[in-house]
Amino acid sequence: MSTDVAHIDHPHDDVPALPRRVMVADDEHLVAAGLLGLLEDLGYEAVGPANNAESAVSMADAESPDIALLDIRMPDAEGLTAAEQIYKQLGIPVIMVSAYSDPEYVAIGQRIGVYGYLLKPVTVDQLRIAIDIAWSRYLTDLDLSGQVNDLEDRLAQRKIIEQAKWIIVKRKQIPEPEAMRMLQKQARNGRKQLVEVAQAVIDSDDLLGD
Ligand SMILES: [Mg+2]
Repeated sequence: MSTDVAHIDHPHDDVPALPRRVMVADDEHLVAAGLLGLLEDLGYEAVGPANNAESAVSMADAESPDIALLDIRMPDAEGLTAAEQIYKQLGIPVIMVSAYSDPEYVAIGQRIGVYGYLLKPVTVDQLRIAIDIAWSRYLTDLDLSGQVNDLEDRLAQRKIIEQAKWIIVKRKQIPEPEAMRMLQKQARNGRKQLVEVAQAVIDSDDLLGD
């Protein structure tokens, strides 16, 4: 797949208009407790905390939060590694939370596709805004991702229909538009999708060993 838009599969079938459950991963217990408290103040269901990178990934997998807040420096691995897995494998958007603003971290975060980067100590207003912006960007990305899928589906279907049309042209020695009308008529009469009828033509052609 050579598209710029990541294919995101949200863990939930229906993506909420606003995030509800927000997960926290931070190895410092007080910081984690503070973030969970702020989330509850903002009306979110706070999930966690996970206290290392590995448990952050497994917790995200088990709990399917809408968004994850991840500390960067954790004992077992960098939170950025967990962020990449949580976003790319589980489709959950991640906001990094760190006391450090090293350009290296920021660059990795950008490459991974993190949806925000908050510097500790985090205020309730910063958190509220970061979650709002992250979520609207995420919804936009999901939309674009869907559009790319649709486009790819349509192109694939068009290829199948074209191929079937040419098989009919060759077999029946009829012009293209007539072959196309035959396919359309078959689809209408059989109450089938054009692409289904086209695929059947291709399959039967394969059977004939053409
Ligand atoms: Mg830490």
